[in-house]
Amino acid sequence: SRYFTLTDYPTGLPRRELFALETQELPELGPNEVRIRNHWLSVDPYMRGRMSGIRTYVTPFELGKPMEGGAIGEVIESTDAKVKVGDRVSHMGGWRDIAQLPAQGVTVLPDHDVPEQAYLGILGMPGMTAWTGLNRIAECKPGDNVLVSAASGAVGSLAVQLAKAKGCHVIGIAGAAHKLAWLESVGVEPVTYKDRTAGELSDAIQLASPEGIDVYFENVGGICLEAALSQLNEGARIAVCGMIDSYNAEKPAPGPSNLSQLVVRKAKMQGFIVADHWSNYGYFLNEVAPQVAAGKFDYQETVKEGLESTPEAFLALFEGGNTGKMLVKLEG
Ligand code: NDP
Repeated sequence: SRYFTLTDYPTGLPRRELFALETQELPELGPNEVRIRNHWLSVDPYMRGRMSGIRTYVTPFELGKPMEGGAIGEVIESTDAKVKVGDRVSHMGGWRDIAQLPAQGVTVLPDHDVPEQAYLGILGMPGMTAWTGLNRIAECKPGDNVLVSAASGAVGSLAVQLAKAKGCHVIGIAGAAHKLAWLESVGVEPVTYKDRTAGELSDAIQLASPEGIDVYFENVGGICLEAALSQLNEGARIAVCGMIDSYNAEKPAPGPSNLSQLVVRKAKMQGFIVADHWSNYGYFLNEVAPQVAAGKFDYQETVKEGLESTPEAFLALFEGGNTGKMLVKLEG
C-alpha cells in the first residue's frame, strides 16, 4: 500500500514538502476486516484543520501516520459476512491506494444510477452539508433572497441549486470567470469577490439582489461576510458552514467591522458541523439522489490523476483550483 503522511504541522499555506509518500506491506486481514482498492480520493478544506496539531471537532493527523480522508473503492478481500469482495464502498481510508479497515467503518454504496464518485461530492458529505445548512440551519423558504459564498465549490454548487429549486432568488460569490459563467448557467446571479474591497463587493451584491438578503450560506468569511452583513434584510439567517479565508491565516483575522448589523437587522447567525446531522443522511439521499440521477442538478467535478497528485489537489482548494468537487482519480 502507498499512503501519504504529514511530516510536520504547517503554519500558513502548507508546503508541498510536508507531505511524504510512503510504502508499507499490509498484514493479512484480521477478523471482520476488508481490503479496498481505492478508485477516488476526496480532498476537503476541513483537512487543513487536522494539520494544526490542536484538537478541534476532529482529531489532528498524527505525524508520520497514514493520513485519512473520504474515499470510494472496491473491496478486493474480506473476512466479513456483510461486506463482500466486489462491493463498492465509501470509507475514510483515503490519501492512499489500498486501504485496510474494520468492515464496520465502511458503507456499501446505495444503488442509485449515478457515478460512484458522486458519493464524495453532491451525494456525499459536501452535498449533505449544503442540504443541512440551507434547510435546517438557515431555514430557507421559497421566495427568499439567498446569497452563497464559494458558490461554485462542492458545498456551494449544491446549495445554490437547492435554493433555486425551492424558488429562491440566488446570488453566488466566486472567483474566476468560468465559475461565474457556470453559476449563470444554473440561473444564479454571479458576483466576483476578486480585486474588490468589502464595500465594492457589498455594492455588487446589492446590484444583484436589490431586495436584500434573507439567507446567507457562509463558506468563506473575510470580506464576503462583511459584504453580506451590510445587505441583510430584517430577520435574515446566516448559516456558518466554513470560513476558508482564514484556514491558512498565521494570525487571527480581524472580525467584520459591521457585526452590529446583526442587531439592527435582528438577524441570526449559527454555525454547524455536518457530522452532528448525519442521522438525516437517509432523508437527504431520498430527496436528492433521484434528482441527481435524473440530471436535475448539474454536478461539476475537478479531477487530478494519480495518488501522487493528492497534496496538489488539496492545496489547490485554497487557490480556487476547483469547480465543483475536487477529486483524485487513482489508476487501475
Ligand atoms: P470548495 O469546493 O468550495 O473549495 C474551496 C473553494 O473556496 C475554492 O475553490 C475557492 O473558490 C474558494 N476559496 C478559497 N479560498 C478563498 C478565499 N480566501 N476567499 C474566497 N474564496 C476562497 O470546498 P467545499 O465545498 O468542500 O467547502 C466549502 C466550505 O464549507 C469550506 O469553508 C469548508 O470548510 C466548509 N465545510 C463545512 C462543513 C461543516 O460541517 N460545517 C462540511 C464541509 C465543508 P473561488 O475560486 O470562488 O475563490
